[in-house]
Amino acid sequence: MGIAADDEAKTRPGLRRIDASGQTVMPGLIDTHCHLSFDDAGSNSEIFFQRRNALSALVASYNARKLLRAGVTGVLDPDSTFENMTDLRDAIDANIVEGPRMSCGAYALITGVGGTAGRLIGDEGVTGYYMAVNSKDEIVREVRRQIKYGADWIKVHVTGIIPRQAHKGELCVWTDDELKLICDTAHDLETPVMGHCRGAEATRKAAEAGFDLIFHATAMDDAALQAVIDRKVPIAPALTFQYNMVEFGEKIGTSASLMKLFESEITESIETMTAAHKAGVPLLTGSESGFSLVPYGDWHYRELEVFVKYFGMSPLEAIQCGTQKSAFGIKMAGEVGVIAPGYRADIICVTGKVEDDLSLLGNSDNITTVMIDGVEKDLSPPPKRKPLSGWRLASIGDKKLTREVAYGPEQPPEPLNIEELH
Ligand SMILES: [Zn+2]
Repeated sequence: MGIAADDEAKTRPGLRRIDASGQTVMPGLIDTHCHLSFDDAGSNSEIFFQRRNALSALVASYNARKLLRAGVTGVLDPDSTFENMTDLRDAIDANIVEGPRMSCGAYALITGVGGTAGRLIGDEGVTGYYMAVNSKDEIVREVRRQIKYGADWIKVHVTGIIPRQAHKGELCVWTDDELKLICDTAHDLETPVMGHCRGAEATRKAAEAGFDLIFHATAMDDAALQAVIDRKVPIAPALTFQYNMVEFGEKIGTSASLMKLFESEITESIETMTAAHKAGVPLLTGSESGFSLVPYGDWHYRELEVFVKYFGMSPLEAIQCGTQKSAFGIKMAGEVGVIAPGYRADIICVTGKVEDDLSLLGNSDNITTVMIDGVEKDLSPPPKRKPLSGWRLASIGDKKLTREVAYGPEQPPEPLNIEELH
């Protein structure tokens, strides 16, 4: 840095000087919760039943370029259809396609009880991005298989919604022994474990079982908070999805009651997330991109705003969460996420002072340079895409065509005048 960097540069011919006056030069953003194979899906059914293996990997490589344009230099993809994001990761690593550094899970492990998609998930085997495991033998076999085929992380859906008990919210669908078995099997092969946990019990159990990263961790109670703090388990709340719903739900036809529900998921976590952050638990940033509410390229910085608005962080603290701390999600803590000697040059240039206005990161026109390991990336816009046949789940509309919708509440249809028909 500084004079030392200038001296070093003189010894290397061919280096290009980038004029970044009027800009913020900062570490690239790291999104620790982005499903690149989902392709801005509107529903789980679309992801489970409409998609094809090779095509979803090709589409993901197209979408990966949108992340680069948004200043994202690292991404953790927790689970994917056909577990094919290990292939995209390898293609990016080999310079076959351009994209951020990737770290991947494979299929998300789930018990036969199911996950957030309830009965859409099969009792056994693969459904979409899930793999149901129904015994301890199956757990061990599947964890080892995923690691053999290139998973960087093991992803577990610790909680799921049981349709008949939906009023209770998401419930923990594993025993303590099973959670511990997953961790022990993965850790023996030097692979960390991450868990989708909603609710206090699941978060506490996952932390106690040895999980290395917890997603969501909403509605923690004192015991869950203590378990997380004792072990300093990083949390990626991934509340961008909810925040978008709260702020813009009206524009996409979300009902007021659903918007309220989503906001309460954020507000109920304010106290515990703030306490966890203060106690030194790393909070990582994740966008949950992959769904139509958080399209690729638009919202990867947004979690920083959630951390500032709801969790009382300064913009600089939030930036550190989205860079330095989130490097843990791509297994590169201490290597990227900081601009300092000894770190790899994953750096972006952003027009304006980001510390004063985080929303500058939301406009890709402001992001003029993105480099990974000191190599500048192509930020030209990808060609405009056209529809892919059989890709989206066809919908006949958002509303039921009741007579009230058809004719309005005040105007019953004029009765047919039979006489006139003659
Ligand atoms: Zn997710």
